Amino acid sequence: MSGNLLRVQPIRNGTVIDHIEAGRGRKILDILELGNSGTTISLLINVQSKKQKRKDIIKVEDRELDENEIEKLALLSPNARVNIIRNYAVADKKKVEIPKFISDIVECPNENCICNNERGATSNFRLIDEEKIQIQCTYCGRKIEEESINFL
Ligand code: ZN
Repeated sequence: MSGNLLRVQPIRNGTVIDHIEAGRGRKILDILELGNSGTTISLLINVQSKKQKRKDIIKVEDRELDENEIEKLALLSPNARVNIIRNYAVADKKKVEIPKFISDIVECPNENCICNNERGATSNFRLIDEEKIQIQCTYCGRKIEEESINFL
């Protein structure tokens, strides 16, 4: 029996997030709250890959990620790939791209910021550095780096 075959066992319907930066899979599960969705989730850690040295893979059965989740994913692992699976086949490939404007998914660390105080205000960030993943609040100008991003 090939262990490899077991590892790549396909899912019938759902989402496969591939090429996740190794070690990021757990965090992605957490932040996207995939574990709470009531469906079967598989997390593969440190999978050997030709493109990168190691990668993580997440398989989410019976659920397709929405745009909002893909934006969060982009901030966590910009090189990830999202494949939507329907009836064992790849039905759609979603481009994982950090949007130029990030609306309502990241918390501004400035507690005096209007987006933390005004009722109904949504947070808005502008991508200022795609390489380092640095974003800036469009209200107060506070800049945050990848490692200090808090998701709403
Ligand atoms: Zn702000």
